[in-house]
Amino acid sequence: MLAGDKMEQLQQRISIVQNRISSAAQKSGRNMQDISLVAVSKTVDIPIVAQVYNLGIQDFGENRVQEMTRKISSLPQARWHFIGRLQTNKVKDVVGRAFLIHSVDRWPLAQEIHKRGQSLGITVPILLQVNIAEEKSKTGLQVDEVGSFLASIGELSCLRIRGLMTIAPLSSEPEASRPIFRELAALNKTLTKKALTNVELKYLSMGMSQDYEVAVEEGANIVRIGSALFI
Ligand SMILES: *Cc1c(COP(=O)(O)O)cnc(C)c1O
Repeated sequence: MLAGDKMEQLQQRISIVQNRISSAAQKSGRNMQDISLVAVSKTVDIPIVAQVYNLGIQDFGENRVQEMTRKISSLPQARWHFIGRLQTNKVKDVVGRAFLIHSVDRWPLAQEIHKRGQSLGITVPILLQVNIAEEKSKTGLQVDEVGSFLASIGELSCLRIRGLMTIAPLSSEPEASRPIFRELAALNKTLTKKALTNVELKYLSMGMSQDYEVAVEEGANIVRIGSALFI
């Protein structure tokens, strides 16, 4: 059990984040219920995750396979999102366990996820990570690659493309992320108009502790929040 003051602090932080999401949603004419808060638990251990789950948060994000696997076995009832760079040889530990893989960024990875889905006899929901900011250090498809990637994905019959994800450059100024999020939302809108096999772009995963309100204003329906909750 966690000490009472720690629990109270977590509850407070959750409420603050939820209230801010709610206000930002209203600004963009949407409802809090349409937006999923993924608590990025990579910096904390299982007792804290369990507490946050008990406080009503059901979605958690992890960026390392081993760490996610460990946490899933302690808290299988939560929905686990894989949000980090995924190595092809670790795909087998993620497919069938993760609720959603946010970070598919290259064809060989997509092929491997499909193969694993096929051998388990399941379809695998994924998001494509797009490097909108064109940061050299970041992974993700280039904007002009996404269309052809999606057009070919029908071949990989076990994949279900459910949307797009991006990470904005680190900044202390939330407004700096706005053009990035706006561009991802616009790309999503353009691609939604094409009827593509196994593609239904309903999720926009964008916004972290630094910029989630701006992301929600620009149309995010999944925000990935770590430090605002846990640090
Ligand atoms: C760590 C991480 C987050 C959460 O970042 P915070 O700034 O702590 O909110 C979100 N998305 C990805 C991909 C991450 O690796």
